[in-house]
Amino acid sequence: VTTIFKKKIPFAKLEKFVLEEPKEENLEKWSNYYAAGPHLGGKNYSQAVWTKEKFEEFGFKAEIVTYDIYANYPKDHSLSLLKKDEDGEITVTYKASLEEDVLEEDPTSGLEDRIPTFHGYSASGNVTGQLVFANYGTYDDYATLVAKGLDFKGKIVLVKYGKIFRGLKVKRAQELGAVGVIIYSDPGDDGEITEKNGEKPYPEGKARNPSAVQRGSVQFLSMAPGDPTTPGWPSLPGAPRVAPEHAIPSIPSLPISYIDAIPFLKALEGHGLDATELGDTWKTGGLDYKGVKYFVGPTPPEVTVNLFNEQEYEFAPMWNVIATIPGHLKNEVVLLGNHRDAWIAGGAGDPNSGSACLIELARTFGEMKKAGWKPFRTIKLGSWDGEEYGLLGSTEWVEDKWKYLDKNAVAYINVDVGAVGSNFDAAANPLLGSLLHEATTKVLDPHSVQKGENKTIYERWGGKYKPLGSGSDFTAFQDFIGIPSLDMSFQLGPKDAIYHYHSNYDSTAWMERFGDKGYLYHAAMTKLWGYIAIRLSESHAIPFRAADYSNFMLNYIEKTKNLTHSALSSLTSPEKATADDFQAALSDLEKAAQKFNSHASRLDQWSSQVAFQLDTESHPSQYSRLLVWITVKLWGYVHKVNKAYQRLDRSFTFEGGLDERPLYKHVVYAPGRWTGYEGAVFPGLVESIEDGNWTNGVRWAGIVRGCVEDAVGVVRKTEGYRVLNVE
Ligand code: GLU
Ligand code: CA
Ligand code: ZN
Ligand code: ZN
Repeated sequence: VTTIFKKKIPFAKLEKFVLEEPKEENLEKWSNYYAAGPHLGGKNYSQAVWTKEKFEEFGFKAEIVTYDIYANYPKDHSLSLLKKDEDGEITVTYKASLEEDVLEEDPTSGLEDRIPTFHGYSASGNVTGQLVFANYGTYDDYATLVAKGLDFKGKIVLVKYGKIFRGLKVKRAQELGAVGVIIYSDPGDDGEITEKNGEKPYPEGKARNPSAVQRGSVQFLSMAPGDPTTPGWPSLPGAPRVAPEHAIPSIPSLPISYIDAIPFLKALEGHGLDATELGDTWKTGGLDYKGVKYFVGPTPPEVTVNLFNEQEYEFAPMWNVIATIPGHLKNEVVLLGNHRDAWIAGGAGDPNSGSACLIELARTFGEMKKAGWKPFRTIKLGSWDGEEYGLLGSTEWVEDKWKYLDKNAVAYINVDVGAVGSNFDAAANPLLGSLLHEATTKVLDPHSVQKGENKTIYERWGGKYKPLGSGSDFTAFQDFIGIPSLDMSFQLGPKDAIYHYHSNYDSTAWMERFGDKGYLYHAAMTKLWGYIAIRLSESHAIPFRAADYSNFMLNYIEKTKNLTHSALSSLTSPEKATADDFQAALSDLEKAAQKFNSHASRLDQWSSQVAFQLDTESHPSQYSRLLVWITVKLWGYVHKVNKAYQRLDRSFTFEGGLDERPLYKHVVYAPGRWTGYEGAVFPGLVESIEDGNWTNGVRWAGIVRGCVEDAVGVVRKTEGYRVLNVE
């Protein structure tokens, strides 16, 4: 231990590296490399090799880890509006282009081998039916229409992108008997920056290009991420496979642009309910300036839609690239990751703004290594494949390395979209919240620097992070194993140019014209990521704050109680009796969480005390026999504290998993059943309340309480050690 401490480079020197070494011109170079041509999941081997070679060039061992994953590639498609006349003759009244415009100003939009518009994991099919419009296709949107007597059987459903993960729009349509789904991007969801408001569309201006199409996966993300044929185990050669229907749709779907959507919306006009009268969330359509009036339909029997979708399914090799920077500690590992695959030829924003940061961070670490740095804790960098289809590479890797990760991982820090706008945004496990706050005070906010204000990211952002949901590669780390995770991004601010998510216009041309001129936000993100990484790898005490976690839980238990309270007011006995039991179980849970809170605060206090001693006393130049002795004693204690921090979040996994989705084992975090992106905090509890299933609620309150008690046990293991007074 003492030799390790002697060899440690002072943190201030490492901090200078991560905050000063990342360079805009390199980020531009890495970004341009990745975003120069198609690199779909399973179709980017050369980029995997390049990434590995970069890691090696910077001085680190790297390997390509391959999984064989069931996935689809587009073959053919068409979408037509049909009309049958009195003689039974059918004519095509509109044929959707299903193509994005080729723009001279945006070279990757016109590549020969550009990727067609399609949905990941959509079913092949050739279906014809009357059209209905179901707003955003949320669970509630469908429920509203069902309550009004609308029958989805045999229909083709047109919905807008937005609010929830797209695959869940298809899932619910399928459950209600629809035969196909069309999803389009309505400019009503673009805030101020619209053509209707006088903004010019891309490439001239900041508004959405009318032909832009959002590709994307329609897997049932909230049920199971990863290869749908190997839920829970890795897709290695010879792995057993199951039928994928539990996790992917059986009805076809297509994504379209708003310009393609207009004739379909107009075909609905005057038929069925006026959509704008169904509530506030139904009023948000923004195509009125194009003469669209939003009606639910269905279209009359003689007006139908034909949706043809042909997908080729195969077992495709997908390649993760993993670099390892061995630390002095092998059993405490800090994980950093970003996905590499994109839906389109470009991907300058999603995901390759993050990929550029990963490469530049690796280069920075390489410079630190040259200066003699060996991390205290081991660091691993992951470049994931197949995220877009359903978090494939990261989930299979987690399933493959489950035991290793469970035993050794400290935290997982994800950067997917690094920078597509000026607003910092993060979702975090509260254990990492205070470190996130600290890190964001270390880096200046590019937007305010440009305005001459020199505010830090923290100052402009304000420090509010979201609970973790899903939709990116942290999911399996956090939700399967209980590895505290963080996900960060620079997203659109209200005045920023519209980001063409999953469209051909997520390109280098867009990035350099609008998204991040000069790659300033890329540089800020690299610095932030680097600072968080070295605080996690170098600090003697793992820089977690357990009390932020326990307070977060107490807060959500309170919310759950309020939710129950309102659900209960309408009940009568005998249902009321079980509901009363649920309330009592929640109170017990709350008591356990309060106990956890006091233990957690004590852990944090001790940790900061001893870590401070260690950080100040163990500087090599001050070495004396006494200090060596103190250091070793203190380290013994800090080590205990670290083990508690490292194990803490594992306490919140429940072996059996959530109801009907056994892969999701975390009892605090899961993607919402019907939201996907947005998380459900205490999913077992909130779902029981949603379902009005109080018996199940009692069961879940017990499960969560068991986890909280385990967490208390984990913290307790550190107690009984007295803090050495070395002042
Ligand atoms: N980031 C991808 C998306 O939002 C994730 C896909 C998935 O989780 O299935 O489309
Ligand atoms: Ca699997
Ligand atoms: Zn992404
Ligand atoms: Zn994406």
